[in-house]
Amino acid sequence: MKALIVGAGIAGLATSKFLSDIGWDVTIVEKAHGPRTSGYMIDFAGSGYDAVERAGLLPLFQARHHNVEAVEYVDETGKTRSLIDYNLTRESMNGRLLALLRGDIEAILLEAQPKGADIRYATSVKEIVQHEDHVEAMLTDGSRMQADLLVGADGIHSHVRDLIFGPEEKYLRYLGYHVSAFMFDDDRIAADLDGGFKILTVPNRQFAIYALDDGRLASLDAHTDASRERPRDPAKKMREVYGDLGWYLPRVLDHADRCDDIYYDFIAQVEMDHWHEGRVLLLGDSAYAVSLLAGQGASMAIGGAWVLAHLLENANVPEALDAFEARMRADVLKKQAAGRKTANWFVPPNEFQNVVRDLFLNATRLPGLKGLLRNFFAPSLKSVVRE
Ligand SMILES: Cc1cc2nc3c(=O)[nH]c(=O)nc-3n(C[C@H](O)[C@H](O)[C@H](O)COP(=O)(O)OP(=O)(O)OC[C@H]3O[C@@H](n4cnc5c(N)ncnc54)[C@H](O)[C@@H]3O)c2cc1C
Repeated sequence: MKALIVGAGIAGLATSKFLSDIGWDVTIVEKAHGPRTSGYMIDFAGSGYDAVERAGLLPLFQARHHNVEAVEYVDETGKTRSLIDYNLTRESMNGRLLALLRGDIEAILLEAQPKGADIRYATSVKEIVQHEDHVEAMLTDGSRMQADLLVGADGIHSHVRDLIFGPEEKYLRYLGYHVSAFMFDDDRIAADLDGGFKILTVPNRQFAIYALDDGRLASLDAHTDASRERPRDPAKKMREVYGDLGWYLPRVLDHADRCDDIYYDFIAQVEMDHWHEGRVLLLGDSAYAVSLLAGQGASMAIGGAWVLAHLLENANVPEALDAFEARMRADVLKKQAAGRKTANWFVPPNEFQNVVRDLFLNATRLPGLKGLLRNFFAPSLKSVVRE
């Protein structure tokens, strides 16, 4: 059996790995010119954790785990307002939580591909034609390919979704925030941070800086913005949003000016009432982005890939795709609902709500109140793999 996968992100690489494991012949096309190394820190738990454990990949994931001790919210003078104890968080998830860079997850999945895996960078699909017993794709390099299944794993702004289901405006639910992330070197900030993870929080804006194991630093900004436009120049936009603030921001914004690899997007979820049409399936963010507010997108991409391969091992393609939707949907909806709930307090709009969040976060460390964390993370622990 032959699969064509569009996108070599977490969803595409996981799908390729698990389909290869059950004997499928896989080709991946990826529009980037090579593997992506940039990204941001990902909390990895739930379905994805279970899937990589079953596939025997967990030791590789554990080896790239970043040991985050705590996440501290600070004011403009750097004074701590509240703190999340990451060890308590991990405990509340029965120890089954890892912190990994997106680039590291992709690197592990890339290394796990079979020898000679057919991954074509700087390539995409131009046209897709469905037939009763196969699907045919015209690629941007001019070649044609036939497959039993085409998987659109090309992210929240999916081109496969555009081609088969129509424009993204029909499917994106905007959650009212924009987010950016990039990596940089700064010895002075690194020495001050001393391995820590700090988030400057002011109404409608928060900016995180954290240390990576190799001495580099990473940033993650989230701010209120209802617009659906992605700026042409993310560094300029970041300066417009954060230029008036102190702390380390003046230095970080200078680094952003020199960086040509800034991740910038609005935060959104993808809502569709079906994820496949004929022999074309969307999987991962392209189909069911839950958003970073649910903290489960990477995990649901890998969990979904595992479920798909498991179903294809025991059924024909049309049956397996129906079964995939039936198995995944309820959990996706729960995680999306949890993400929307988080959107209410993720970046507090005023100082009062900021203080309320501080009180809640500080309370999670009080003896006897650890149940608060367990309740909060309950949706993340639910797994489509263990069902
Ligand atoms: C700041 C941030 C923090 C997050 N934190 C977490 C977290 O803590 N836990 C968690 O589980 N998830 C988290 N997520 C979500 C997670 O990163 C995503 O859900 C996950 O990366 C989705 O993977 P994907 O492969 O579906 O899509 P993507 O990562 O978007 O990959 C899509 C791939 O397809 C390629 N592509 C796009 N268009 C085309 C095309 N036309 N042709 C060929 N290739 C194409 C892209 O170049 C890319 O390689 C976070 C997300 C963000 C932004």
